[in-house]
Amino acid sequence: MSTSTMASPSDALKHLSDYDTEPRFGATVVSNERLTAPDAAEEVRELVLEIDRPEFRFQLGQSIGVLAPGDPAFGHEHHIRLYSVADLPETGANGLPRIKICVRRCSYLDEYSGEEYQGVASNYLCDRAPGDSFSITGPFGLPFEVPEEHDANLILIGSGTGIAPFRGFVKHIYNDVPDWKGKIWLFHGAHSGLEMLYRNDETDDFTQYFDRETFVAFQALSPRPSWGDPIGWEKTILERGAELWELLGDASTYVYVAGLEQMLRELDDVFAQVAGSKEKWARRKAELMAGMRWVELTY
Ligand SMILES: Cc1cc2nc3c(=O)[nH]c(=O)nc-3n(C[C@H](O)[C@H](O)[C@H](O)COP(=O)(O)OP(=O)(O)OC[C@H]3O[C@@H](n4cnc5c(N)ncnc54)[C@H](O)[C@@H]3O)c2cc1C
Repeated sequence: MSTSTMASPSDALKHLSDYDTEPRFGATVVSNERLTAPDAAEEVRELVLEIDRPEFRFQLGQSIGVLAPGDPAFGHEHHIRLYSVADLPETGANGLPRIKICVRRCSYLDEYSGEEYQGVASNYLCDRAPGDSFSITGPFGLPFEVPEEHDANLILIGSGTGIAPFRGFVKHIYNDVPDWKGKIWLFHGAHSGLEMLYRNDETDDFTQYFDRETFVAFQALSPRPSWGDPIGWEKTILERGAELWELLGDASTYVYVAGLEQMLRELDDVFAQVAGSKEKWARRKAELMAGMRWVELTY
């Protein structure tokens, strides 16, 4: 695998104002469906967007920049926010490219006033109806690449909307890499079963791979089901601790992690238990990172 595996932490931490807002492409909403179960506390929606120019291209693991309209009276022409592309590229009947993104509706409490604010871009996107248009830019970030060795092992760890890039990636491997022999272990974290994206009663994309000998998916749920609470990685990962440690010692194992930045700390804690000590884990992780075999897309 080349060193350009996917977005590095430094890409994710780059200030939003550093991202190019040109060239711009027009995106029209084809559909906007809720992905989380109707009774789940968190609302995550999948938007299918049609891009107005055939030359728009992206690769799996990249994100688009959405330019949500701002208030010019406050000096904001727009607010740029990034969203991972959540599936393989498609083409509409008119030959225009279509992409999917999955968006969690965000709100937050102002620490001084105690008032609740709606996140600007996520609410803008979640409220769009089919036919609505807005501008996008990008794509940004380095793409996921399939390892050159087709018997490599992939450990994919996604929490919340971080599962989005893995959906297209796993599909790409099983559709387009016919001699793929490596193990794919997908760890999928959510705050409750109702918030398992692409793995609930309405949409269960990953079941289509369950007959593949190489594919295994594990769910990790939070013991306390609010968005800011840690995911319960411990139980799920420790149950496979010995096998994971063996895989992590194999020079052809790659680990991709995507989701909220806080998951890195949670994973470090649990992998230190798998390794037997913090120091052992720090050494193993450093080796993986140096070989570009541990890569993160966090936000
Ligand atoms: C590389 C990259 C890829 C991303 N991919 C996705 C994606 O696929 N889907 C997605 O929904 N978001 C994704 N995000 C996050 C997204 O860009 C926005 O930050 C998020 O939608 C909030 O924007 P907003 O304008 O609604 O909120 P703002 O008005 O900017 O308010 C931000 C508030 O929400 C909190 N917040 C921001 N993002 C999250 C989050 N995801 N979960 C919990 N709290 C959050 C912040 O701490 C802050 O308090 C990605 C971010 C990056 C950097």
